Amino acid sequence: MGNPEPKPLKRFRRGLVWLRNDLRLNDNTALYRGAQSCRELAAVFIACPISWQEQDEGEPVVAFRLACLRELQQRLAERNIPLYFLEIARFQQVPRAMEEIVHKLEIEALFANSEYPYNEQRRDDAVRTALKNAGLQVEFCSDRTLLPPGAVKTGGGETYKVFTPFKRAFVARCGSDYFAPLPPPRKMETAAGWPRWIQLAEQHNLVRTIPGKLPGYELTPDRNGRLLGWMPGEKAGARHLRAFREKIGRYALERDFPAKDATSRLSPYLNCGAVSIRQCVQMAFAENGGGWSGGNQGAECWLGELLWREFYTHLIAAFPRLSMHKPFKPDTDRVPWKYDAQLFRSWCEGTTGVPIVDAAMRQLNETGWMHNRLRMVVASFLTKNLLIDWRWGERYFMQRLIDADLAANNGGWQWAASTGTDSVPYFRVFNPYSQSKRFDRHGEFIRRFVPELRHLSEKAIHCPPPLDGYPAPVCDVAQSRDQAIAAFAGLRNL
Ligand code: FAD
Repeated sequence: MGNPEPKPLKRFRRGLVWLRNDLRLNDNTALYRGAQSCRELAAVFIACPISWQEQDEGEPVVAFRLACLRELQQRLAERNIPLYFLEIARFQQVPRAMEEIVHKLEIEALFANSEYPYNEQRRDDAVRTALKNAGLQVEFCSDRTLLPPGAVKTGGGETYKVFTPFKRAFVARCGSDYFAPLPPPRKMETAAGWPRWIQLAEQHNLVRTIPGKLPGYELTPDRNGRLLGWMPGEKAGARHLRAFREKIGRYALERDFPAKDATSRLSPYLNCGAVSIRQCVQMAFAENGGGWSGGNQGAECWLGELLWREFYTHLIAAFPRLSMHKPFKPDTDRVPWKYDAQLFRSWCEGTTGVPIVDAAMRQLNETGWMHNRLRMVVASFLTKNLLIDWRWGERYFMQRLIDADLAANNGGWQWAASTGTDSVPYFRVFNPYSQSKRFDRHGEFIRRFVPELRHLSEKAIHCPPPLDGYPAPVCDVAQSRDQAIAAFAGLRNL
């Protein structure tokens, strides 16, 4: 099966590409289609800091997004595509602003890549209606996922709610060469008369400079341009992908060990779109005999992880209540969740007295990223051992992760809390000490992030004796596990 035939393109004099979490030149469907169908092309990015804050998007993810945008602006300029920037408070103001922008820039067609959380979908529906009413051509493209949400359904026409059958159906639906990335846009004709800035209503200015910071988002890069150690941009993303190719063969064996640098660390780039999902699949296919099951265990395992991303994005598109932080299993709202601010703070700060949890939380706070195994461990600890409402943890992750993504984060939290569609059974609670011994056997990871414990032996480090300068555990792991199971046991429909 080859790439699906693109729809025939109309020719327009002036088009606009609305960039969001798709910040790259290569394999960008909306940008590519805009360049194919228009003689002159501009791009716009609309920052909505209040809406972002209301959605709990924190400084790391927003700062990384802006820094990627800045890199992209330069690359677009080389192709005669000016990038305009607008800052307004909320999504609700976007349709009105967009009407003004297309009017002032004399745009005939708008191109954007679809986004799937509920608020984003509503914003885009309103923009589509407003611009169509104004006589524009509007095209929202499928780009963030391999197949558009809704493309893979059960025999009964329903959204898959369990991962394994979803994966099976997904792979059966796809051929091996389905996902060829698109080339970058061609160099456009120079547009005469597109100004450097435009005054819009309500004191908003459309400008060609990307600000270093936004109000409420103060994180600054270091002098090399890195944010929390991460180099932003499409070029850096491509370097990450190339570097991971060298070790993809060992992924299945090593990916669960947080002290090893064995996973791709591509999530910040995938999330803001500096790397595309098709580029990832193309690389993995190349290492795996050209398809899903070519015998390279590492590549096959990694492709499976990419499909978790796909699965959660399809789910968030199909079930608006997930965007509203409602549990997939409504009955789980009857769990007597605790709202203990002090316990929660100890978890956030990495001072629970459980070393693997503390090391993981400090990794998050210091680097904006956490290893997947540890995301599961700390989420289980918060929601089961501390019985704190999973939404507190979900929110903290959104605020601190540089790869914060509503679909994956909500999916991960609801998985760990046993409130989700395909989640860990409530009676199977992770034991953080066993996880620590199994996946950080020598205590290497703990030592890296919890200096107070550096001097401890391999044997003592997972569950240390009383120590000066390190807290005693905030809970009894065995007892709290039993209490959590009891809290779930009486619920129906689990
Ligand atoms: P790799 O192991 O190299 O995997 C490659 C890519 O596959 C990842 O970059 C990611 O895009 C995707 N992926 C892998 N595992 C998952 C998964 N379980 N769910 C969805 N996608 C996956 N991922 C995010 O991108 N953003 C989040 O906000 C996020 N929050 C999470 C919260 C919890 C509680 C849990 C348990 C998981 C969360 N994940 C999230 C999923 C996963 O932990 C990260 O994607 C992964 O750790 C990123 O590291 P990597 O790029 O090295 O992953």
